[in-house]
Amino acid sequence: IVTMRNLDKSFGTFVALRDINLEIRKGEILTFLGPSGCGKSTLMRIIAGFEAPSRGELLLHDQDMTRLPPERRPVNMVFQRYALFPHLDVFDNIAFGLRIRKLPESEVRTRVMRMMELVQLDKMASRWINELSGGQSQRVALARALVNGPEVLLLDEPLAALDLKIRQLMLQELRRIQESTGTTFVYVTHDQDEAMILSSRVVLMDHGRIEQVGTPDELYFRPRSLFVARFLGEMN
Ligand code: ATP
Ligand code: MG
Repeated sequence: IVTMRNLDKSFGTFVALRDINLEIRKGEILTFLGPSGCGKSTLMRIIAGFEAPSRGELLLHDQDMTRLPPERRPVNMVFQRYALFPHLDVFDNIAFGLRIRKLPESEVRTRVMRMMELVQLDKMASRWINELSGGQSQRVALARALVNGPEVLLLDEPLAALDLKIRQLMLQELRRIQESTGTTFVYVTHDQDEAMILSSRVVLMDHGRIEQVGTPDELYFRPRSLFVARFLGEMN
């Protein structure tokens, strides 16, 4: 769906991303894994359209994607801090993007109800955001990002604020939701376990470069560099 070719990103003299070559394939869960500061969020922001690459190509179905403003890209993003609207209830938070697009209210209702069922919040439509737990808030954020049917959903450390038990539960939830919607997921974490459990493919990054791309098994059993072996070795 999305192709990156020789993509660089600099901030002044600092090079945050260096020669990124990668294709995001339809229907996969592609996980970016790597230490803090390696450039994961920067790459997500470039795909979403909040930043422009300094050099190289970013293609959507073989067309230049950098010309499209964020709202015209078939991409949505879930942030580490959910960025929900505290003055709206659960239903209205999820409905927000649909109402901006001026969809008929009956259509909005149908779609939001379906999403609330998907993330198992159908009994909480009129709850306020500050009455929700961390896991429930994350479900609202997920539903809001999925409700207008993006081709690609970017999830930047979506579980980082949650405690271990809820994180494991939400990981299974994410898998179920990905399978039932068929949406392509691009997932960011610095947690090896999460990456290994969830992903079709893992992209391991270090200092703005891609160190290795492969299935979890490939990275684990056939690490291509000492860095990969060491990074995954920290798992146990
Ligand atoms: P973390 O796991 O901590 O979230 P990350 O892999 O997401 O890290 P990024 O946020 O992509 O890392 O940042 C990559 C590097 O680019 C960091 O060194 C960061 O300081 C730098 N950087 C990011 N955004 C900017 C900016 N707007 N201006 C200058 N430097 C930036
Ligand atoms: Mg980040």
